[in-house]
Amino acid sequence: MANYDAIVVGAGFGGLALAIRLQSAGKKTLLIEKRDKPGGRAYVYEQDGYKFDAGPTVITDPAALEELWALSGRKLSEYVTLMPVDPFYRLMWEDGSILDYSDDQKKMDAQISDFAPADVDGYRRFLAYSQDLYHEGYEKLGAVPFLHFRQMIMAAPQLVRLQSYRSVYSKVASFISDDKLRQAFSFHSLLVGGNPFTASAIYALIHALERKGGVWFAKGGTGALVDGMVRLFEDMGGETILGTSVSKFLTDGDRIRGVEAGGKTYMSDSVASNADIVHNYERLLGETAHGSAVADRMKRYSYSMSLFVIYFGLKGGPEDLKHHVVLFGNRYRELISEIFSGPDLPEDFSLYLHCPTVSDDSLAPEGCSAYYVLSPVPHLGNAAIDWETAGPIYRDKILAYLEKQCIPNLSERLVTSRIFTPSDFQTELNSHLGSAFSVEPRLTQSAWFRPHNQDSKFKNLFFVGAGTHPGAGIPGVVASAKATASIMLQDEPA
Ligand SMILES: Cc1cc2nc3c(=O)[nH]c(=O)nc-3n(C[C@H](O)[C@H](O)[C@H](O)COP(=O)(O)OP(=O)(O)OC[C@H]3O[C@@H](n4cnc5c(N)ncnc54)[C@H](O)[C@@H]3O)c2cc1C
Repeated sequence: MANYDAIVVGAGFGGLALAIRLQSAGKKTLLIEKRDKPGGRAYVYEQDGYKFDAGPTVITDPAALEELWALSGRKLSEYVTLMPVDPFYRLMWEDGSILDYSDDQKKMDAQISDFAPADVDGYRRFLAYSQDLYHEGYEKLGAVPFLHFRQMIMAAPQLVRLQSYRSVYSKVASFISDDKLRQAFSFHSLLVGGNPFTASAIYALIHALERKGGVWFAKGGTGALVDGMVRLFEDMGGETILGTSVSKFLTDGDRIRGVEAGGKTYMSDSVASNADIVHNYERLLGETAHGSAVADRMKRYSYSMSLFVIYFGLKGGPEDLKHHVVLFGNRYRELISEIFSGPDLPEDFSLYLHCPTVSDDSLAPEGCSAYYVLSPVPHLGNAAIDWETAGPIYRDKILAYLEKQCIPNLSERLVTSRIFTPSDFQTELNSHLGSAFSVEPRLTQSAWFRPHNQDSKFKNLFFVGAGTHPGAGIPGVVASAKATASIMLQDEPA
């Protein structure tokens, strides 16, 4: 029976970042992951010579990643090459309008002026507001473990000053008048699972985060970044077990003593989980009265939407596409409302299209191109769709749409494809209701109101990742690892 200073359950970005922090601090750390590869939502599929990143592709705040290497005097650049992406995104509408969003102010002004000259000034004021939010909400509070309500009270004056009680969309609309530009500068909260019409305006900070730190892509794909993090962890002496599901946390009175996984026990006086927050309480701690009571409480949170993802490989190149493309459908507010509330799969969609071979042709066979397209869809609690039946039909509909909008002859050029549905989020990732981003980011579910990074009874049980503070997205879960490590490295055994 092996003994560790710390055990981390789950090798998503949050679990990896936490394991690196603990191992860097000299703690003998074991990382246990259910799937056969690390990365969690950042899994990699290899199929017919194509390499598909399953999830995150927009890498922001590289400084937060560099910090993980610097903890042990190493450099991220010795493990991974990050390449700048320009433009950050191409935004497209059905009437043919295009906005190439980048950090080039002159180009932004010229394009905004083509949509609505008066919005050039409005955009600059929005950017200044977003920068203020970024400083207050991300730089100052992003890695604070909100365990005590007094921390919320201390943060309140700034949150009120910045009108974080308003929605992202309503704040954007207070600066910008053009309908398409309002979409362009408010859709960002969707990237962390937030409805722009209900997510706190604080999430408009993502705009400043991208403008400040840039948008990057890891050479070889996001999987190369995940592999770099695993290598960093193991180079410092950390141990990883893949393909092994943790089945329960072992308890003794008010302490966790280790975990059971793959029929074995692993002992530690400090256990952290990167798994879904309901799964943690319902499955891993479900045998205790505390576990089942907290699981019920966790289920009362509102959960972010799910995603339907199609990975596909084509003969021929990506032609004149950009690396990241957002295709807005004709409805915005109504579509988003149906995505977040159900009760059915909407007829229309807005899509994010990933075209990585624009930046890195190693991800597809010579002369070919790799893609994924995702459509935000209701989670299983809001629309009980039988995805086994609906999935292939929905896939064909989306691919036909792409063929019409931006990828000529897609069907003739199609070599390979696979899909990932809300049911897969539930079964593959143990995600409650198949939500893609866990607890929905609303003001009343943020900071202290979010599931805490430490359990209230088992003080040596910790949580990290999208369901905890500050929330989803790579910068969010990497910050959550910093918050969680700060508590774990203070925690003394009883
Ligand atoms: C399709 C998609 C695209 C996205 N695009 C972006 C993007 O471009 N940029 C960005 O910043 N963010 C993006 N996001 C969001 C971002 O990927 C996630 O918020 C983030 O990766 C979640 O990380 P996490 O640490 O919470 O862990 P997860 O990735 O959720 O990993 C949790 C891990 O725990 C494991 N696990 C679960 N139960 C057990 C168990 N019992 N035992 C052992 N292991 C277990 C799971 O297998 C999984 O590997 C995207 C998300 C999706 C789904």
